[in-house]
Amino acid sequence: MRTPIVRLAAVAAATGCFATSALAQDKSQVVAVRAGRLVDVDKGEIGRDQVIVVRGDRIEAIQPGSARLPTGARVIDLSKYTVLPGLIDCHSHLIGEIQAADVLLPLERSEAQEAFRGVRNARATLLAGFTSVRDVGTYRAFVDVALRDAIDDGTVIGPRMEVAGAYVTVSTGAGELVGAAPDVTIPFSYRFGVANSADEVRTRVRAILNGGADFIKILATGAVLTRGTKPGASEYTEDQIRAAVEQAAEYGAFVAAHAHGAEGIKRAVRAGVRSIEHGSLMDDEAIALMTKHGTWLVADIYNGDYTDSVGRQEKWPADILRKNTETTETQRVGFRKAVAAGVRIAYGTDSGIYPHGLNARQLPYMVKYGMTPMQAIQSATISAAQLMQWEDRVGSIAPGKLADLVAVQGDAMANLRSFEKVGFVMKGGVVYKEPSAVRP
Ligand SMILES: [Zn+2]
Repeated sequence: MRTPIVRLAAVAAATGCFATSALAQDKSQVVAVRAGRLVDVDKGEIGRDQVIVVRGDRIEAIQPGSARLPTGARVIDLSKYTVLPGLIDCHSHLIGEIQAADVLLPLERSEAQEAFRGVRNARATLLAGFTSVRDVGTYRAFVDVALRDAIDDGTVIGPRMEVAGAYVTVSTGAGELVGAAPDVTIPFSYRFGVANSADEVRTRVRAILNGGADFIKILATGAVLTRGTKPGASEYTEDQIRAAVEQAAEYGAFVAAHAHGAEGIKRAVRAGVRSIEHGSLMDDEAIALMTKHGTWLVADIYNGDYTDSVGRQEKWPADILRKNTETTETQRVGFRKAVAAGVRIAYGTDSGIYPHGLNARQLPYMVKYGMTPMQAIQSATISAAQLMQWEDRVGSIAPGKLADLVAVQGDAMANLRSFEKVGFVMKGGVVYKEPSAVRP
């Protein structure tokens, strides 16, 4: 018999209703998940015919399929599936509408509309098998903090979120809404993290972390989709980035740096950021520096194809399409070199630049540009958890960790495109999606 808790969650997922407090975890509930294939991302191995015992929201044990099941356990039969830890996207933007060429779009919607778009996006992300995200920024400050908290308290269905709160950016830089007439004042809530000196950087980092953010996102160079800015151009000095790193460290928090240009990447790495986002124009020296400092690379090597096809269809401005072309292929070349050099790589897709829920589309690209299928899956599980400093709770299927599990039909590791159709999603022991075949 399925418990009412599980049934409610499945119904909520299927109908689009939001989870309610009825989804609160029953700590005594025991579930036995029978896995035809079980991916051990810690060891890089695939086991056959295993059972994962879940008690409440945690994984209790992993045992051979022949071992006796705990009494009273609800059995979920995934013997025709490959079972993996919940996937993690380290570069998402869940708040608001999909970002297009119209950079002032966020001004046309109320804060509530932005938030409810986030609700929709969070649900699509979870049901695609991504049970955690590191959300790297929203134009309207702190909407991500509210979404994270609403998911955590069961008001909204979505992935666990680690959030940036607001962009730390120079004025008129990559994290600004640009395109307004010069005599139009953009409201403060869109410019919460604007900082033009090391002192201002410290002030804004404090304000963002005091406002409830988990880490800091700094825009070290120009951006592809921010009109007028140049991806190759640095926007902060090394000292200014270091000010962010040192101030964040006072809170036990880290800094993620958006950086396309090689010089901006090197400044950020030397300043001690935890991750480089994009890394599109990195050179050999930047790769060597990242290896030396143990800096993570989060490279969104899929979405350039999406931007190009949609941008041409919708006749986006020529300068955006040109910048996209200039960064896409060089990024992939750099990614391949970084893999070969042993740079630490975590999975991040820039979801929000393309529609949410398609997060798995980048997995085959990771293999095309130098990773093994196991390395690609590790980047989206245990490595991602390490980058987020969440490896104590998620990222692998191990006793004591949160029961975040996904399953893909058949031998999923043989075809990473099959991850676009995740058949089963459990987060914290609650089932949000399951194939009808496993229902008792
Ligand atoms: Zn981004």
